[in-house]
Amino acid sequence: MHPGNGQVTNSRGPRKVLPVAKQRGKADTKRTGLAPAGKTYRTRWAMKISDRDVLLAIDVQNDFCSGGALAVPSGEKVVPAINRIAQRFGNIVLTQDWHPRDHVSFAPNHAGKQPFQTIELDYGTQVLWPMHCVQGTSGAEFHRDLDIVRASLVVRKGFRRGIDSYSALFENDKKTPTGLLGYLRERELKTVFVAGLALDFCVRFSAEDARAAGFDVVVIEDACRGIDLDGSVASTHQSFRQRGISVVGLEAFL
Ligand SMILES: [Zn+2]
Repeated sequence: MHPGNGQVTNSRGPRKVLPVAKQRGKADTKRTGLAPAGKTYRTRWAMKISDRDVLLAIDVQNDFCSGGALAVPSGEKVVPAINRIAQRFGNIVLTQDWHPRDHVSFAPNHAGKQPFQTIELDYGTQVLWPMHCVQGTSGAEFHRDLDIVRASLVVRKGFRRGIDSYSALFENDKKTPTGLLGYLRERELKTVFVAGLALDFCVRFSAEDARAAGFDVVVIEDACRGIDLDGSVASTHQSFRQRGISVVGLEAFL
C-alpha cells in the first residue's frame, strides 16, 4: 500500500474504478484505484464489478429488522439496496445468524443478566443479546423481500452453543473458521463487498477478517444499518480507516 499517492494498491495492483460521468459517455478523467483508506466515493465514482468480486450480504434476517427480536433501527431498509446492488454481481454470498436456544450469547440464559450487559468468556468479553435468530424460527429466516435466488452460498454462523460469531469468517474466538475463507480462496475471489446488518458488529468483523486475510474489502455503507452500542458506529469507521477498508455509497453502483 502506498498511502501517499492517493490509491490503495496491493500485490495485485490497483483496482479499476470508472468515473460515473465516463460511463454515461461524457468526457472525463480516467482514474484507477480504490479510495484512500477511509475515504468514500459518495458521488463521483462507479465501481466496475468483475467475476473476481463477491457481494457478502450479512444477516439480513427478520429478527434484525423492525419488529424482530433484536431489531437494528431501519434494518429492513438494507433490503432494496442489497437487491439492487446484487444485480451487478455474479458472486453473491449470504450469511445467516443461526443459534440454538441455549446459546451462550442470549441474556435469558444467564441468571440475573439483562440484554446488552456483558459477560467474560474464555474467548473474551461477550455482549448478551435478547434471544434472536433461533434455528428454525421465522425470526431466523431471511427478510421475505431479500432476493436470495442468485446467492451461491449461505454461511450459517453462531450455531455452536458456547461461542458467538459476529464475523462471517471466524467465530468470536478469532480462530474457529466458518469455512467462508476457504470458499473465497478456492473460488479465487479477490475483492469482498460487504453489506447488511449490523454495520458495527457482524459487518464490521466480517470486513476486518476479510481484510486481514488479504482481500480488498469495500463496505457499502448505504446498504448497512448499525446498532450503535456505546459509540460502536464511530469506532467501526475508525477501524475501517486504520485497516484500509474502503467505504462507498450506493452511488458507486448506479
Ligand atoms: Zn446472534
